[in-house]
Amino acid sequence: MRVAVIGCGAMGAASAWRLSQRGAEVVGFDRFSPPHDRGSSHGDTRITRTAYLEGAWYVPLLQETFPLWRELESSTHSQLLTITGLLTLGRPDSKAVVATLASARQHALETKVLDAPEIRRLYPAHVVADDEVAVFDPQAGFVRPEMAIEAMLKGVDVRRNVTVTRVAARGDGVEVDTGGGKERFDAAVLAAGPWVSELLPSLPVRIERQVMVWWALQSGSDQFALEQFPVWLREGTPHGDIYGFPSLDGKSVKLGGHHNGEATALSSVRRAVTDADLDPLRLFVTTYLRGVTRSVVKSAVCLYTNTPDQHFVIDRHPESSRIVVLSVCSGHGFKFSPVVGDIAADLLLEDGTRRDISRFAMSRFTKAAD
Ligand SMILES: Cc1cc2nc3c(=O)[nH]c(=O)nc-3n(C[C@H](O)[C@H](O)[C@H](O)COP(=O)(O)OP(=O)(O)OC[C@H]3O[C@@H](n4cnc5c(N)ncnc54)[C@H](O)[C@@H]3O)c2cc1C
Repeated sequence: MRVAVIGCGAMGAASAWRLSQRGAEVVGFDRFSPPHDRGSSHGDTRITRTAYLEGAWYVPLLQETFPLWRELESSTHSQLLTITGLLTLGRPDSKAVVATLASARQHALETKVLDAPEIRRLYPAHVVADDEVAVFDPQAGFVRPEMAIEAMLKGVDVRRNVTVTRVAARGDGVEVDTGGGKERFDAAVLAAGPWVSELLPSLPVRIERQVMVWWALQSGSDQFALEQFPVWLREGTPHGDIYGFPSLDGKSVKLGGHHNGEATALSSVRRAVTDADLDPLRLFVTTYLRGVTRSVVKSAVCLYTNTPDQHFVIDRHPESSRIVVLSVCSGHGFKFSPVVGDIAADLLLEDGTRRDISRFAMSRFTKAAD
């Protein structure tokens, strides 16, 4: 089967990888040259975890990703997944803590609840109040997005800097139009990330600008080292929901806010990071972390593609079962990319999937609009 993959960010690259592995002939198309920093899949690191506050039904899919990352690492001789564990910090009745524990209970996942004295002893970088706790999820860590995309696209024929203007069902196949010409394929994966509405206007998504900032560490701050500092999330602070990573270079740590960005049109994304972006994070750093300075080493703007309920779309195109639509973001999609790519391959090569994707149907939005 000859398959066009439209968009080669995390989801398209993963689809290209799994489809090629499973015998399809794949041609990728991308309006830029992936990996790049214009969409949603850049910034050195992405959190992965298993106890899942966004919904316990995600857990079986997450569990499938870990061996797939290892398979990709060994076939491409790359190091993509680092297990550090993850701390969800907050008050015991906060949504993040409650929902993380509920999903762990439902799937019998190993987690540990640490009280404030234990957090201070084990992770002195975190400043916590006496009534705060942390849920430790050991099956968690981070993935390297740019390196993962590069690994997934190894050996794939990618048409770089080519924008697809239309993808449509034609007879028993699919026609891909790039403005410069039309090409026929047996099937297609539509994985255009923030640009999905240009090719599928009926999918209601909202683009959110998000900022990532790397802060300089104070000299001698060794408490952020990979071996001893898990990735972390902190919900409901006065500065928003914030997440962060251990230090990859011994000199800086990366932090970001979750769903605290402005809605933006793709034609007018503010790519420059300003003090208005930095100030809430600077206040967070000052209040909640020990050993981090207020100096910015680097920063980047990235885009969330949010569906109305912030869950994914993994489905067939409303007009053709030969086109699979992947809108897997809402700020939490990267970690799923290997299994999402494998599901896309299931849908096109096997005509169905053993995974439960019923919650990711596009019709939940189109029906609501009726
Ligand atoms: C700041 C930030 C932090 C995040 N943190 C996490 C995290 O910690 N953990 C996690 O799991 N997830 C996280 N996410 C979400 C995750 O990164 C996304 O779910 C994922 O990257 C989405 O990938 P994508 O392939 O859908 O989109 P993209 O990576 O944007 O890929 C879409 C691709 O399609 C191409 N394209 C678009 N239109 C066309 C066209 N017409 N023709 C040809 N090519 C086209 C684009 O050039 C692009 O390469 C985060 C996202 C952001 C922005």
